[in-house]
Amino acid sequence: MTATAASGLQLASARPCIASSRRVFKAGAANLDVNSKAVSWTKLASACHLSQSLEPFRRSFASSSVKFNKVVIKAMSESSENKPVSGLPIDLKGKRAFIAGVADDNGYGWAIAKSLAAAGAEILVGTWVPALNIFETSLRRGKFDKSRVLPDGSLMEITKVYPLDAVFDNPDDVPEDIKTNKRYAGSANWTVKEVAESVKQEFGSIDILVHSLANGPEVSKPLLETSRNGYLAALSASSYSYVSLLKHFIPLMNPGGSSISLTYIASERVIPGYGGGMSSAKAALESDTRVLAFEAGRKHKIRVNTISAGPLRSRAAKAIGFIDTMIEYSIANAPLQKELSADEVGNAAAFLASPLASAITGAVIYVDNGLNAMGVGVDSPIFKDLNIPGEKH
Ligand code: NAD
Repeated sequence: MTATAASGLQLASARPCIASSRRVFKAGAANLDVNSKAVSWTKLASACHLSQSLEPFRRSFASSSVKFNKVVIKAMSESSENKPVSGLPIDLKGKRAFIAGVADDNGYGWAIAKSLAAAGAEILVGTWVPALNIFETSLRRGKFDKSRVLPDGSLMEITKVYPLDAVFDNPDDVPEDIKTNKRYAGSANWTVKEVAESVKQEFGSIDILVHSLANGPEVSKPLLETSRNGYLAALSASSYSYVSLLKHFIPLMNPGGSSISLTYIASERVIPGYGGGMSSAKAALESDTRVLAFEAGRKHKIRVNTISAGPLRSRAAKAIGFIDTMIEYSIANAPLQKELSADEVGNAAAFLASPLASAITGAVIYVDNGLNAMGVGVDSPIFKDLNIPGEKH
């Protein structure tokens, strides 16, 4: 996926599909003329790499006694339906996003903010209170200017930075030692409920909610050595924080809105070193994604998805201590042998936030160069005689 200057974000990899089937598939309100000679199901399916998902349509049309002349596939937001568009643009103009968990320009939260901004969304961020001062100062002094550059050359604007501590829902929850802690002294209204109220007061509504935060104080301890407090703290900061954010922000989310969190494969496969209950926290986050998708979908027409991201050298990941090893491991063993860039996750998030993903909810979407698909580590000496294709590292 790449971003282009002309029309915000474009799904470049989808282009050959659109181009090769231009007569039957127009972005906007696309017409699929099933009687036309232009429709070759196998051609369309293979061009779009969609053979599995198109097969049920093909079968139902083939067996149907009813003649359908036109099937309208709505792929875009209403505003763009009547405009001629080329490619398949991700258009988030007029949308507002709140991204919780941005405190520098190295993490997934920043990359997601940039992709959403490139697609036209207005950006609000929530920054952990102890990191707020240095983040705002760095932003003001231009330290992030290089990484604020968007595909069209402009700089990403962050309309407002809110102090946030996502382990506290309302002021009554805040213990005395935090209230009197000097790292919290200069900030106010940073519990989840208060932040949601402030955003409502100042902006009215949002369309996109992103949870890009996690914390496990005992992450370097194996699960067997993790204390109850450490385990519960990991779940509070990394899983319940999402439930709480959604609960408090849903009342100000417009119907059709989208919510995204970030998870890690350690929820479903053993990753030694990712301890302290963090693997459990990610498992909870993924399970909650399904339940929240149901509840928020039924009641508020809001979609809820999580991105299972590959390893990135973020501040949080560096603190865990073995991120370089995980990046090397991925390059050696994943189907795609390249280092994952944060932008690839940002672009996937922009897609999930957009009307292009209007039927995707309750899903764990892997953005990890395909590492999740592997059942073995192919760099093991055990496989040395197998002649496995790929670069040796
Ligand atoms: P990051 O350091 O950029 O982001 C983590 C953020 O969480 C920081 O900004 C930190 O200040 C914030 N935070 C911690 N506790 C908080 C609290 N109580 N309230 C509010 N904010 C709080 O690191 P990242 O790796 O980009 O992490 C973002 C998300 O991506 C996390 O959910 C992480 O588990 C997930 N993830 C990361 C990787 C990776 O390899 N980096 C892989 C898969 C998933």
